Amino acid sequence: MIFKDIIGNEKNKELLKRIIDTNNIAHSYMFVGKESIGKLLFAKEFAKAILCLNQEKPCYKCKSCIEFDSYNNPDFIILQPEENSIKIDQIRELTKKVYEKPVVSNKKVYIINDSDCMTKEAQNCLLKTLEEPPEYVTIILIASSENLFLPTIKSRCTKIQFKNLTKEELAEVLKQKYNYTNVSEITFNIAQRKRK
Ligand SMILES: [Zn+2]
Repeated sequence: MIFKDIIGNEKNKELLKRIIDTNNIAHSYMFVGKESIGKLLFAKEFAKAILCLNQEKPCYKCKSCIEFDSYNNPDFIILQPEENSIKIDQIRELTKKVYEKPVVSNKKVYIINDSDCMTKEAQNCLLKTLEEPPEYVTIILIASSENLFLPTIKSRCTKIQFKNLTKEELAEVLKQKYNYTNVSEITFNIAQRKRK
């Protein structure tokens, strides 16, 4: 099941699953919300599902899914900031590749992480692709704030807002990530001892 290992933002899971199920995939999305709440995890799983070659997306076993999981899928790229910003050269490189047809899948997905640190020049360069994307491409911009984007970029993207995690969800994340149960057991033991 898609998003089964991701904690929180249940509404967005439903929304993105519906997009996959109905194959109603837009060319550009903006995932907006505070840092460290799972936006990149959501984007990767969504990308994997878009690229999957089977009916049940993602199937975790087709060529596209396997190559995705081993960071080898040629139809998928994550762009990261270099020295705290995403520069025009990086976007130029990306937009050049956008026009090369998909190799493994029928689609291509690009994630631009921390895209709110794109320079104005980089944004203007990206805008051309957002205005006339090849039909097989989907671009996901991940950002903690919308404020630094050109209005023309924002208007081209389908916005998906992510909420902060609840205390319970956060505890669950810690448990998964750092095996936090053990820590709480230790704390519990100490508390018990103190009481005696
Ligand atoms: Zn698959």
